[in-house]
Amino acid sequence: MKVLITGGAGFLGSHLSEAWLARGSQVTVLDLASDAKVRHLRAQGGFRMIRESVLNRDILEGLVAWADLVYHLAAVVGVEHYVGDPYQVLTVNINGTQDVLAAAFRHGRKVVLASTSEVYGRSPAVPFDEDGDRVLGSTRVDRWCYATSKAAAEHLSFAFWRMGLPVVVLRYFNVYGPRLDQMDRGRVVTIFMGQLLRGEPLTVIGDGSQTRSFTYVDDAVRATVAAGLAPAAVGQAINIGSEEEVSIATLASMMVRLAGSASPVIFVPKEAVYDRGYEDIPRRVPAVRRMRELLGARAEIPLEEGLARTIEWFKRQSR
Ligand code: UDP
Repeated sequence: MKVLITGGAGFLGSHLSEAWLARGSQVTVLDLASDAKVRHLRAQGGFRMIRESVLNRDILEGLVAWADLVYHLAAVVGVEHYVGDPYQVLTVNINGTQDVLAAAFRHGRKVVLASTSEVYGRSPAVPFDEDGDRVLGSTRVDRWCYATSKAAAEHLSFAFWRMGLPVVVLRYFNVYGPRLDQMDRGRVVTIFMGQLLRGEPLTVIGDGSQTRSFTYVDDAVRATVAAGLAPAAVGQAINIGSEEEVSIATLASMMVRLAGSASPVIFVPKEAVYDRGYEDIPRRVPAVRRMRELLGARAEIPLEEGLARTIEWFKRQSR
């Protein structure tokens, strides 16, 4: 197989690239970011990275024509971007997806779209069923621009599917593991990680009762590979996640314990971390029936084990 992965130099994309190379496929990554997360793959035959924006239509066209299968992961991700640069989030996530789908449509290539559990917003209907309602806040609150951009990307995907393009939409639930964001940046696991390794307090936002279902990257990747192969997945939105729901306060104390760190856990108001435009989501848990039935995949790595592996990896990097 020839596999094109837009955004393949990111966290999930780098692991997905590894998985496809391990299957003997050829992988091309199209990504604007540094190649730091895929540099170790460069020595392998069958891998190449094109450092360019997904919004460059000429390059995109050529690469889609080359591929048998397209994963569209290129997107602006991370709460700090939603509240800091909503224009970029909307432009890349919506226009980039439209360009990928249009190119795939011209060449008849299957597309797997990386969407997000964020599209459910703060729906109270936990666990989130793929066909359930979405509950988002005002457009005056920047946090929701990411969910909106990904929902538009999903709508575009299903519109192309109706025109005959094979498309699969995957909604990821807080995927974590080695090579997640830079320490201190991005998502909660990497923010806590930096604090842990320096022995500083872990900053739990609010009272810490908000929950997430953290999904270890190997589990997410296995399901993502299956989505590229399984005919039954076409035309579907499928949650990719673990059913293990954990509060952020528990996550913090678990990470302190696993790291053998002396960091205390403190509770801070959201204004201390995000200036404005931030609202939290109280609970986020996936319904996983489709993942199991359509992809034959389930989250196998318990949070404790996944966190232990992740902490070990970050410790090694910081030495
Ligand atoms: N969070 C926290 N402290 C931080 C950063 C994040 O308590 O320093 C919380 C955040 O309020 C949210 C959860 O961790 O409830 C997950 O946040 P993240 O930004 O990783 O992703 P989200 O699931 O909100 O998209």
